[in-house]
Amino acid sequence: MNLSIKILISLVLSVICGLVAGPDALPFINWWIAPIGTIFLNLIKMVIVPIVFFSLVVGMTSLGDISKLGRIGVKTILLYLVTTAIAIVIGFGVAGLVHPGLGLTMTSAEAVTVKESPSIMQVFVAMVPTNPVASMAKAEILPLIVFSLFVGVGILQVGGERAKTLIDLFDAGAEVSYKIIGIVMKFAPFGVFALLLPVVAKNGPAVLLPLLSVIACVAVGCVIHAVLVYSTLARLWGGHTPLEFFRGMSEAMLIAFTTCSSAAALPINMKNCQEKLGVRRDVSSFVLPLGATINMDGTALYMGVCSLFIANVFGVDLTLGQMAIIVLTGTLASIGTAGVPGAGIIMLAMVLQSVGLPMEGLALVAGIDRILDMFRTCLNITGDAAVTIVMDQEERKGSAKA
Ligand code: ASP
Repeated sequence: MNLSIKILISLVLSVICGLVAGPDALPFINWWIAPIGTIFLNLIKMVIVPIVFFSLVVGMTSLGDISKLGRIGVKTILLYLVTTAIAIVIGFGVAGLVHPGLGLTMTSAEAVTVKESPSIMQVFVAMVPTNPVASMAKAEILPLIVFSLFVGVGILQVGGERAKTLIDLFDAGAEVSYKIIGIVMKFAPFGVFALLLPVVAKNGPAVLLPLLSVIACVAVGCVIHAVLVYSTLARLWGGHTPLEFFRGMSEAMLIAFTTCSSAAALPINMKNCQEKLGVRRDVSSFVLPLGATINMDGTALYMGVCSLFIANVFGVDLTLGQMAIIVLTGTLASIGTAGVPGAGIIMLAMVLQSVGLPMEGLALVAGIDRILDMFRTCLNITGDAAVTIVMDQEERKGSAKA
């Protein structure tokens, strides 16, 4: 049976058992069952540092020779990063209005000490690690991201055979990390059950509405981002009306929605962009694969919604400074998110870690993650295409001038 179905079943089972057991059973549940959930969370935490390190280095090296990236490359990357940051802000906006999770209370096994929000300059200073190994040991995410990006650039500058050896090594490391996550996720149905049971036993049926509201926030957020950002890009710079753009993209969007994988949808995305939106082959064959690797607007939006949801559930008020850190971490994290089903939740774990939000909240999200993945993957690949049609127009203007 498919893993997502198993996780969904465990969510349903935990709700049924929790409702039947009720608050009287909490001492038993906390003593015997909750620790299984803690083991599951520890397993996820275990893999955060290696996956960030390996996958971000690989993400950077996928840019190829930086000096040869040229104007189109730099503009593409900037546009990818800006749209991703906007997506997180939209996620915050929607979740800020709907307040998913308010009324539901969860407590963390560890005392929740959300990191103080430092000033913006302090954030920049703290982003640069003096000792990357120490940052890894303490799972400090932003310095780790910065170090990984530097390693990626360093490898690209070395170039040649030696760089290739290192790229292969990091690629293998990223693959191993994803394999480990695959093993850990096999345990997810038990982990999710063990984490949710105490919450349902304590809160009763009140637990269901917040989950539905998270799904609604992500879905509505994705539609808002597509309509606002992509329609604007298409109309102002992409040479297409929004209707033409979305109609041209419909097949690829459907494939992304059903497979939950940007990588799987890439060939159809290429075909749609070239055949239906008239994008030149040389542009689409550079911009789209790069987007499928480093551009994840939907995943970023989901991080915004879920981090606010988890903060609500644990009674934490996120300050603007912490939200800014989430935008920064989430935008950079999307570079390292693989275009495969379920990658986003690992990156969400990392974003939570960056501001000190409790990981237990992941259990709530894990139960419905497949549904959220459908919406976010669909937005991820639509974002790649929106930037592609813009870059195509830019290139056309460039060659007309030449
Ligand atoms: N499934 C997403 C993608 O392929 C990544 C994620 O899990 O957020 O784009």
